[in-house]
Amino acid sequence: MRVGIHSMVWVGDWSRAAAQQAISQTAEAGYDLIELSAIAPETFDVAHTARLLEQYGLGCSASLGLGAGTNIASEDADAVRAGRERLHLALNLVRDCGGTMLCGVIYGALMKHSRPATEKGLDNSRRVLAELADKAAASGIELGLEFCNRYETNILNTTAQTLAFIDSIGRPNIVAHLDAYHMNIEESSMAGAIKQAAAAGKLGYVHVGESHRGQLGTGTINWPEFFQALRQVGYDGVVTFESFSSQVVHSTFSNDLAIWRNLWDDSMELAVGARAFIRQHLGV
Ligand code: MN
Repeated sequence: MRVGIHSMVWVGDWSRAAAQQAISQTAEAGYDLIELSAIAPETFDVAHTARLLEQYGLGCSASLGLGAGTNIASEDADAVRAGRERLHLALNLVRDCGGTMLCGVIYGALMKHSRPATEKGLDNSRRVLAELADKAAASGIELGLEFCNRYETNILNTTAQTLAFIDSIGRPNIVAHLDAYHMNIEESSMAGAIKQAAAAGKLGYVHVGESHRGQLGTGTINWPEFFQALRQVGYDGVVTFESFSSQVVHSTFSNDLAIWRNLWDDSMELAVGARAFIRQHLGV
């Protein structure tokens, strides 16, 4: 198992200075990889990021949530086209930084929806993802579909829905991305969901986030159950720590995720504490 941390624990944007700060501090805090926030992949100096990752001996993954204007699960051809373009840029970013996972809400818009997705919209999403998966496979990259709570997506809220959607696309390198924060809201059993994804051979990526998105172990999530289930199924992928506070702000991401409160001030103290918590429970 490798342990990662989301870049938004450190920085809100990805200027060269921000990349330097986030990557060096990720290494200093004892993580194996950094999950790059690829909401705006066109703003990355990819070669610079790749050099820093190599310099600090870190791996990377990348994640993003599509928005209303890039919603590949809509019936608006312009939005589908824009979303497809963003996903391909994000995939190039992962490839050029040596990563093997592009994940997050890459199947539709991460936002509060006022109605269910339509069949035609879902077909658009499947078509874009199938094409993206084929391109990803050529570089040994997997796509992780992160199901979210009902207030952030109207498409995938549970492991079962995610497995069915993956099945309907029919690409071997599309996997389920499970996040404890969302599971805590929508699943009836943490362990049951993890075992279900693993039994399908699709447990591909894991986010550990507390019930209030603050420090691990300070909320209401049953971590012993969660981590024990990961060990029981023999999960050997990536576990990434996600936590967000109004201390670190991204212009759209923070608003999309409803990060209104300041849950911590000191990124390093948070990261070191979370790393110790994961080691205590998983032994890695
Ligand atoms: Mn997550």
